[in-house]
Amino acid sequence: MSVKYFPVTRERLEELAETYPTPFYIYDEKAIRENARRVNRAFSVFPGYREHFAVKALPNPFILKILAAEGFGADCSSLSELFLAGMAGMKGEEIMFTSNETPAREYIKARELGAVINLDDITHIEFLEKTLRPGPGLPDLLSLRYNPGPLKEGNAIIGKPEEAKYGFTREQLVEGYKTLKERGVKRFGLHTMVASNELSLDYHLETGRLLFELAVEIKNRAAVNLEFVNLGGGLGIPYRPEEEEVSWEELAGGLKKLYDEIIAPSGLGGLAIHTEYGRPVTGPYGWLVARALHRKSIYREYIGLDACMADLMRPALYGAYHHITVPGRERAGAVKTFDVVGSLCENNDKFAVQRKLPEIVTAAENGTGDFVVIHDAGAHGRAMGFNYNGKLRCGELLLRPDGSVLEVRRAETVEDYFATLDTRAVKNFVP
Ligand SMILES: *Cc1c(COP(=O)(O)O)cnc(C)c1O
Repeated sequence: MSVKYFPVTRERLEELAETYPTPFYIYDEKAIRENARRVNRAFSVFPGYREHFAVKALPNPFILKILAAEGFGADCSSLSELFLAGMAGMKGEEIMFTSNETPAREYIKARELGAVINLDDITHIEFLEKTLRPGPGLPDLLSLRYNPGPLKEGNAIIGKPEEAKYGFTREQLVEGYKTLKERGVKRFGLHTMVASNELSLDYHLETGRLLFELAVEIKNRAAVNLEFVNLGGGLGIPYRPEEEEVSWEELAGGLKKLYDEIIAPSGLGGLAIHTEYGRPVTGPYGWLVARALHRKSIYREYIGLDACMADLMRPALYGAYHHITVPGRERAGAVKTFDVVGSLCENNDKFAVQRKLPEIVTAAENGTGDFVVIHDAGAHGRAMGFNYNGKLRCGELLLRPDGSVLEVRRAETVEDYFATLDTRAVKNFVP
């Protein structure tokens, strides 16, 4: 069982909503910091451990600054994400640049920042070298991304490795490291990312074993001593209350056993472990707060919110479960069955389908409407937001450890929506 909490009372929400109308995201700084400390403590059994937080999960520079203060680096995959990491004060090898189908200017920016470039394909060795010439040339340190193909089972979100577009094959890796060495690269990393939202401890340990054995194979076949292995992200969180979390201690402890068994006797002593967790770092500590606007009774009972799938796409995209609570009605018991829906003109715009919930009062009924809190939205939540149907993306609040609330991103306005259009040109345009 996982415990679903929400750090703000209904009374406080009423106050907040006067300044920041719903919907909004709110993140719990204290909980994020405590979690980050647990990560670092658990993985401190490895030499040179570093977590590169996957920026795509929660691309807010305030959050990144908090994580940087806890010693985390960043994992970036685009130009904007590189800027975000820079804005948070992260620099050099604290930044991992794991991209694919990478445009030249992104490699140039990553090189400028001194980020660790992680190549997705063997042809990118040549491409990177050309891109950086004339100029700084290849960096001393490069990392390669591995795709284990049929050696590894996939999972629902990321698919089977064999069908995934990412990474080098095993043979390409061996060849790739040899080529890098010939071209003057001196330091090497190995990376993989094979699952997403995976809650099986064994799955992650198996990935560790695969990479540790591969590190030894690379030493033997390419005569390259890796400096680090990056295990990627993909650790799941218990979205459903009945699911169990994988604790950082069991994960790091299990990996350490394999490390001692495989790496220690191989002569690769000192091999550093890096990770790129996103979801389990911030996911459980962020919520989407909306209000119930309308009730509708047809073949099913619907509660319509002022948020929609443009604010949180996971349920529509993956059929993902997000726990829902109604502040102030915790004791009422789940007495009704609702589809909790948004306003997009898409029938999959449903935050919950046939969900048992307390009775919910809507704004149409009492003028304000109950708050509806959607849990575990702190990763891949606001980040996946979009403007389809002319929907404006909501803002983000940060609950500080002293109980104060800071707006860390304002809600979009209609002006933002039109900012990329030249409205004068539209007026003058004669079709
Ligand atoms: C998405 C991604 C991550 C983070 O995944 P989570 O499921 O959020 O932990 C890490 N590394 C890479 C390369 C990714 O694409």
